[in-house]
Amino acid sequence: MTELSLFLHDETDTVALGQAIGAQLIGQGAVIYLSGTLGAGKTTFTRGVLQAFGYSGNVKSPTYTLVEPYELAAGCVYHFDLYRLADPEELEYMGIREYFDGQSLCLVEWPIKGEGILPTPDLQISLSAQASDAGIGRRAVITALSPMAKRLIEPLNDSLRNNKT
Ligand code: ADP
Ligand code: MG
Repeated sequence: MTELSLFLHDETDTVALGQAIGAQLIGQGAVIYLSGTLGAGKTTFTRGVLQAFGYSGNVKSPTYTLVEPYELAAGCVYHFDLYRLADPEELEYMGIREYFDGQSLCLVEWPIKGEGILPTPDLQISLSAQASDAGIGRRAVITALSPMAKRLIEPLNDSLRNNKT
């Protein structure tokens, strides 16, 4: 399976998706691209991932600093928000390769801003607002681009049964 489409009814669902994916990424490096407009839920998803790594604090998009490092017992997580990146070349100056070291989990909001310089992702998650009978939720389309990511999304299909359709 290479693609999974889920409906996230509310913020709790978005956090739960992050937790489910994060739990499977402990102990291995990965790159996740998070796409979607402002307010789509990219940072909310990241909070869930960080919770799976044992972090329970506040999570804010690192808009001005571009990256927020979380050096946790379960592993290093780097949360990027490239919204304000003017030129992808700036990523070279900030030593991007030190973060994408194959051991860390890198979550990237606005990856399009780093096109050409960012490494290709294992997972691409696209979030968008979608109405349902109960109000506005989010559609998450998860694309697995590496063999590891394909193995990772199989069990999600079952564990997030309430988010089908
Ligand atoms: P982004 O990082 O994409 O700009 P944030 O995660 O900072 O977005 O904000 C997303 C907003 O949408 C938050 O107010 C959050 O409570 C809300 N939200 C997150 N997931 C859902 C969902 N599945 N349904 C409805 N609202 C959601
Ligand atoms: Mg954000």
